[in-house]
This record gives sequence, C-alpha cells and structure tokens, in this order.
Amino acid sequence: MADYKTHLQGGITAGVVIALGCAWFELIPLPRIPFVALAGIVGGIAPDIDSNASRPRRILFNYGNVIIPSIILWRIPALRSDPQIGVICWVVLALMRYPVEWLFAKHTVHRGMFHSTPAALIFGCLCFLLADWRTERLSHQVALGLSGGIGYFVHLSLDELWSVDFEGRKIRVKKSLGTALKLIGPVPLHNVATWGTLTLLLGLVWRGFNGVTVEMIFEQLRSVALGG
Ligand SMILES: [Zn+2]
Repeated sequence: MADYKTHLQGGITAGVVIALGCAWFELIPLPRIPFVALAGIVGGIAPDIDSNASRPRRILFNYGNVIIPSIILWRIPALRSDPQIGVICWVVLALMRYPVEWLFAKHTVHRGMFHSTPAALIFGCLCFLLADWRTERLSHQVALGLSGGIGYFVHLSLDELWSVDFEGRKIRVKKSLGTALKLIGPVPLHNVATWGTLTLLLGLVWRGFNGVTVEMIFEQLRSVALGG
C-alpha cells in the first residue's frame, strides 16, 4: 500500500496533467485549470477515507462538514432561495456529519469498496455533477469528471503497484494484490450500495449530457412532493 505522500504526489500529477490537457484541447479556459487539477488531487487521496486513522478521513470529517453543505447549497439554488431555509438546510447538512461518521465507523473497512473500480467511477460522476450548473458548460463538467475519476484510479493503481515487491529478479506479490481495482467485494450489502449508487449517478450524468441538470431534477422532485 502506498503512503499518503505518494498518493498526494500521484493525485497532483494526475490532476495537473489532465487540467493542462483539457486546457490544451480547449475544454476549459485557463482560469479553470486550478479547479480541474484540484479534483484530481482530491481523487488521488479520497479512497483512503475508508481507513480509521488516515489523514483523508480526518480531513473529511473536520472540514467536510463545513465545505460539503456549502457546495450543495451553491449547486442547488432552490435550497437557498429563501435565506431562512438556506440556513436550516446548511445546518441540517452540516449535522449529517454525525450519522455519516457512525456509518463510516460501522461499515467501512480499509480496502473495502472505497478501493474499487466502481468507486472511482462514482467519484468521477460526482465531480461531473458538482462541476457546474449551466448546461452550456458541459465541457467543464467533463473535465472535472475526468480529472476526479482518473485521480481516483491513480490511487487504486498505486495501491496495486505497491502490492508487488520488485526485489532483484524475484517478484513477490502481497496478499493485497487485486483488492484495490476490484469490481465487487466480499460483503453483498456493500456491493449493492456501491453499484446502486453508480447506476443512479450514471443516470444523472446521462441526463446531464442531454441538458437536464441536477437542479432541474431537484425542482421536479420538489413539485411532485408538494403535490403539483
Ligand atoms: Zn489506498
């Protein structure tokens, strides 16, 4: 297993290369390069949130409960159309930290489904969906999604690479080989949750390519819930 520093370097490399590539092919304007690179860097360290003592896990719970609600409110304007409702939504989302932390403590194991190919695709989809809310900026969403997803894949690939010891001419393989890029894990519930989430997100991404944004879907759901 590669350490935090190696993963950070891998994420920075992936993020910067993809951001520059996207700018070169004019998918994004130059000021967007840092954002696209950041998605790759976060992807490069994100899988280790499944480890209790890891730095990414501490970052997620110490800063995520402020950053994630802010991103969601920014991404779905309907949630902040009324300042009072906006504050309530933000507080409720921030308090989600506690049930999520409990779920993580109970259900995540290091090298579980957070270290899997569908998890990398989920992260790429999330970056795509969070990237921008205006359909004319689809190319930005593609750039963010690619950077986040590939950054995540780089982490998994580094973990796999570290499972092989190249000692002289002998190649020794550790038990953990093949656990990072797997498609399914040993726990059926985790597989269902992972593949179910991926299917849902791929559906949203597909709709995004067809001009249907997350907030349009949110508005539809809201009008159905309010009875019209
Ligand atoms: Zn890892």
